[in-house]
Amino acid sequence: MMARPEGSIFKLCFLCSLIANLFFGVNLYLGRRGVGGWKWSSDEVNVQGLSWRRRRRPSRRRRGSARAHGRAFLDGAVADGRPACECNTCYGGPDCSLFLPSCSANADGGDPLFLEPFWKQHAESSAVVVAGWHRMSYSFSDQTTLSQELESLLRKLHSQVGNAITDDKYILFGAGSTQLLNAAVHALSHLNSSFPASAVASIPYYALYQMQTEFFDSADCSFQGDPARWKNATNTTGDIIEFVTAPNNPNGQLNEAILHGPNVKTIHDRAYYWPHFTGIPSPADEDLTIFTISKLTGHAGSRFGWAFIRNEEVYQRMNMYLQLNMMGVSRDTQLRAMKLLKVIIEDGGREIFEFGYKTMTKRWDRLRKTLSMSNRFSLQKVPPENCTYFQKVREPTPAYAWVKCEREEDKNCIEILNAAKILGRGGSIFHDDDRYARLSLIRSDDDFDMLISRLESLVAKEDGAKIM
Ligand code: PMP
Repeated sequence: MMARPEGSIFKLCFLCSLIANLFFGVNLYLGRRGVGGWKWSSDEVNVQGLSWRRRRRPSRRRRGSARAHGRAFLDGAVADGRPACECNTCYGGPDCSLFLPSCSANADGGDPLFLEPFWKQHAESSAVVVAGWHRMSYSFSDQTTLSQELESLLRKLHSQVGNAITDDKYILFGAGSTQLLNAAVHALSHLNSSFPASAVASIPYYALYQMQTEFFDSADCSFQGDPARWKNATNTTGDIIEFVTAPNNPNGQLNEAILHGPNVKTIHDRAYYWPHFTGIPSPADEDLTIFTISKLTGHAGSRFGWAFIRNEEVYQRMNMYLQLNMMGVSRDTQLRAMKLLKVIIEDGGREIFEFGYKTMTKRWDRLRKTLSMSNRFSLQKVPPENCTYFQKVREPTPAYAWVKCEREEDKNCIEILNAAKILGRGGSIFHDDDRYARLSLIRSDDDFDMLISRLESLVAKEDGAKIM
């Protein structure tokens, strides 16, 4: 990670700063008195030895009463000379122990904090200490902006998980898959045709595809909605770019391309193609596939995604877009991604995927149980999938519940949920009927507990709700 520092003074300073950073970083991150009333005994943070000792598991009684409802960060606001606690939704007070009973459950955005407990268990092995002189240059020594070490870790991870064939494919990094999606649209527009391309996505689709295409308002490409209307169109003038999302956001289906033919280009968005969320029936082997660390490790804030590209011209065009747009992904982000991947790869992904799958399974079980009492709300059905990773057929555990309001008069499902203090996204955001609403199941434990509690109250008020 770091080259050898020159000179003894430098060495001393470097060591001092390393110790100081670790001391303050560890101390402030975990907190001598952590959020939510946790207390840390002095042996839990072994600063002198520059290591984090695995913290003792609190007793069952203590766990029940003192779950942390927030976190403090070194770069957060300061209160009384120390980083202030940032509380989970529905919690407040200086140490986030105050429950706010009238707040709304947040099941809106796709912030994947469900994986935070995994990283707390791996705080030491996943930590990155970055010295001031770390990779200051615009480029790596091979004059590229991509870490080769990170590239080989990504290829290794995909071969361990079996969710993508990466041989003979170019790789590019982006600021999240968000940036790569637009780079791909740019690269595929005007590839073979002099006419503007049309971008399409099957309803319900992730709103960003349309928003980005329209916002960047390229003369080369316009968004045209659902691909169904193009299915039998043989003589379209320009190319068609189809976004295929598998598993799909919002409904978790393993979508496949609707359109095929010489003038069709496909962008495969595989953000959720990981064993947390779905069986992995076979490795993706597509011309252009995009992944993101956001839904793999949960580090959405690091803004890191990668794309595998078969065709050299498409790769060159995407690369040009990324270089002109921001000259490659931050070296600090690449360093962090590398550290996280090393932790995952060490045991072939076993621990993180088992943790993710187990957490999501428990959440789906609770959600299904709650809504099984209801005649008013129903959940999407996603068929079981063979999972080559876990070597079994398994129920999918999608990142989002796609809830349908079944009553004739409940035409706007999200309004009904909002009135019951549940935040989510209405169907029309995904260009579907407002009878549907998306609820995020990948947020923090507190968000999910609150969601279940609000749903239970809502279902209990139903006339004729089923009795257990
Ligand atoms: N694709 C899909 C289907 C998504 O749901 C998301 C995030 N919610 C993204 C792409 C963007 O992810 P990121 O930019 O964080 O990589």
